[in-house]
Amino acid sequence: MDIVDLYLYDLKTKFNKINPKEYYLSYSGGKDSHLLYWFIKEYAKIDGIKIIGINTYMEHPEIRDRIYKYCDKVLLPTMKPFEIKEKYGIPCFSKWQDDMISRWQNGSRQPYLIERVTGKFANGENVKGRFKLNKTAKELLLNNQIHKISPKCCTFLKKKPARKFEKESGLKPILGVRGNESGLRKTQYTSCFTKDKKFTPLWDLTDDLENKIYEKYNIEIPKVYKYIERTGCMGCPYGSYKHDTEKELKLINDKQKEFICEYFKESYKVLGIEV
Ligand code: SF4
Repeated sequence: MDIVDLYLYDLKTKFNKINPKEYYLSYSGGKDSHLLYWFIKEYAKIDGIKIIGINTYMEHPEIRDRIYKYCDKVLLPTMKPFEIKEKYGIPCFSKWQDDMISRWQNGSRQPYLIERVTGKFANGENVKGRFKLNKTAKELLLNNQIHKISPKCCTFLKKKPARKFEKESGLKPILGVRGNESGLRKTQYTSCFTKDKKFTPLWDLTDDLENKIYEKYNIEIPKVYKYIERTGCMGCPYGSYKHDTEKELKLINDKQKEFICEYFKESYKVLGIEV
């Protein structure tokens, strides 16, 4: 048994820990959730798990088509992107920083927030580590030169429709999240279950092993992955640190590009994203 089949064997034993009738697969059309789709439907042939996706209006067209192709049910958010922009603001730096900025813009001046925004403790010492605003965000915010920012785009387009479905169906999600994806996820996903019993069986899967599984079993992979490593929402500034945002914008048609560039306009300007 090679490393790929060893991992898949182990994945099977992880699935033995759940009752399939109590879970649904949260399908985003991306590489990780599609691996789970393939595993459930074709490799392990596990019955009873519903496949649920969300049309956030923001996915790359190829990814959105996959969502409609593979899901038993596609959920729709209750708010549209421009309604969220008007009411709460748009994403810009990172989810954590945008949450701090949004609280500040809404008038909070709690001691913790002041520390994170200014980068200084009350005793004058510097806040160390990454849990503080970056220099650009700090300067623009403190000089009132920044647009309305908020991470609520994700809340309304992704989290709320999923929570509503879970409440109505009584099902818990199987999430294709991996611990080695980002700093925050490394600490968030350290076993097969989260505290609230979400099932995260890929938490320990590395990029390299995932690619090997895809290769060995010839699993379908969207063309968009030839150009960028990760995708989902088109042009989201949260992908800008790897310059995926610019690459993504080159892969969509003029009408989609116009929509996305208008939605993220102010954030692109701050981040220097050329469109
Ligand atoms: S990933 Fe970006 S564009 Fe997509 S819902 Fe979240 S914040 Fe909005």
